[in-house]
Amino acid sequence: MAIEIKSKLTFPGGVHPPEYKEITENCAIEVMPSPKQVSVLLGQHIGAICKPTVAKRDKVQAGQIVGDSDAFVSAPVHTPVTGTVKDISLQSHPVLGRALAILIETDPENDSGKSPSPDRFDKDYDIQQYSSEQICEITRKAGIIGMGGAGFPTRVKIEPNPRLPKDLLIINGCECEPFITCDYRLMVEWTWQVLTGIRLAAKAARIERIKIGIEDNKPDAIEAMRQSVNESGQADKIEVVVVRTKYPQGGERQLIRSLLRKHVPSGGIPPMIGVCVLNIATCAALAEAVVCGAPLTHRVVTVTGNAIDRPGNYYVPIGTTIADLIDFCGGLTERAAKVVLGGPMMGFAIADLSRPITKTCGALTFLSQEMITKAKYDRRVTPCIRCGRCLTVCPENLNPTKIAHAVKKNRLDLAEQYYMSACIECGCCSFICPANIELTGYIKTGKILQARAKKKIPE
Ligand code: SF4
Ligand code: SF4
Repeated sequence: MAIEIKSKLTFPGGVHPPEYKEITENCAIEVMPSPKQVSVLLGQHIGAICKPTVAKRDKVQAGQIVGDSDAFVSAPVHTPVTGTVKDISLQSHPVLGRALAILIETDPENDSGKSPSPDRFDKDYDIQQYSSEQICEITRKAGIIGMGGAGFPTRVKIEPNPRLPKDLLIINGCECEPFITCDYRLMVEWTWQVLTGIRLAAKAARIERIKIGIEDNKPDAIEAMRQSVNESGQADKIEVVVVRTKYPQGGERQLIRSLLRKHVPSGGIPPMIGVCVLNIATCAALAEAVVCGAPLTHRVVTVTGNAIDRPGNYYVPIGTTIADLIDFCGGLTERAAKVVLGGPMMGFAIADLSRPITKTCGALTFLSQEMITKAKYDRRVTPCIRCGRCLTVCPENLNPTKIAHAVKKNRLDLAEQYYMSACIECGCCSFICPANIELTGYIKTGKILQARAKKKIPE
C-alpha cells in the first residue's frame, strides 16, 4: 500500500500547476512494434551533430550506428529497425527547425522489433566486473545522452575529470512536469534496471555517495526505490530523498538547491560544486547498454492528455514519427486542439506530425480546447498590471518582464544584462501571469535570436 510522505525540502519560487498525472500513472509500459519506417535525426544531443555513416540504399541492422562524430561532446545515433536507408535528407527538428536525418524503411521479414529487458536485472547483479573506463566507453558507443530533456552526452558527464572532481551523484526522479509519468513507471516497474544503471554510473564516475531525489507525490516510486536500495545492501551509499512537490523541482539546479542548500553558479554546471546529475531514464538506458549490449534505440514516452484515444506509457523506437505513434495509440479524438512535444510547461506546440521521436522526447501531450483553457495554458492576453508575481515565482531569481520587454524591443544586449541566458525556460512566469503574457515565449525567442547572432544555430 502506498505510503503518505510529505517533505519540507524545496527551493525558492516555483508554482503548482494542475498535475493530470492520473491519466497515465497507472498505465504499465507497453511495447510499440517497429513502424514501417523511421527517421533518425543526426542531432539529438548537445554538442557536435553526427555525420552519416551509411549511404542511401545501404542495408542496416537494428542497433547499428548510422551517424557518428569524432568530437568529444557528441553521441552516435543508431537505427532501431532492420531495413534499408531510403534517404538522407532534412527533416523537422524540435529545436533546430530542420536537420539531417536518416530515413530507414523497415524490412518486416528481418526486423524482429525490440523488447525491453528489465528481467535481466536483480539485487545480485555484479557491477564490479566493469571498470570505470569500460562503462564510459560503452556509454559513448551506445549513444546515451541526458534523456530528461537536456540531451547532454552522458559519457562526458560521468567521465572523471581531475579539473572538476565530483563526489556526489544526484539522480533526478522528480518528474515535476504535469502529465508526464514515464520516469515514474520506470522507477515502479523497472526498479532493478534503474538501480543497476545508477550504480554503474557511480562506478564510472568514481563517486561513492548517491542521492535519489523523488517528489512526495510519488509514494510508490519512493517505496520501490527504497526497498531495492535496502535489498541490494547499498543503503550506506545510496539515499532516497523525498522532496516537496513543486514545479520545477526536476530542474537540476532546483533539485540541487533542495537537496544540498547549494547554488550552482549562474551560467555554470553542477560539477563546479562537485555534483553530477543524471535522470532516471538515462540510468535505465545505461544499464541496458552495459549489461545487455543494447544501444539507445528505444525510449519510454508518455502519450497523454484528453485528446488521444489510448493514453499510456509506450516503449517507442526512436525515429518513429509522431503520426505513427498517434496511430498506435488509437488516433486523436475529435476534441484535439493542440499537440505539445513534452509537457505543457516546458514543451512546445507542434503542427508537423511527421516529426520523429528523439532520445530526449519523454512525452507527447494532446489537449482539447477546454483543457487548455481550464488548466490556464492559453488565455486572452491583456497589458501587464505590474503585480510582480512573475518575479516571485521565478526559481532563478530573474526579472522576466524586463527580459521579455528587452527582447520585444530587439535589445538583446539589454536582455543579456538582465541575465536572459540564466533563464531555465521553466514557464513559471508565463503560468502565473494574470495578464497571460507569454513571458517565457519572449525569452526563448530572445535566446534563439542571440544564438543565431552568434551563429550557433542555423537560420
Ligand atoms: S524567467 Fe525563465 S527561469 Fe524565470 S520563471 Fe520565467 S521561464 Fe522560469
Ligand atoms: S506577472 Fe504578468 S502582469 Fe504581473 S508583473 Fe509579471 S508580466 Fe506583469
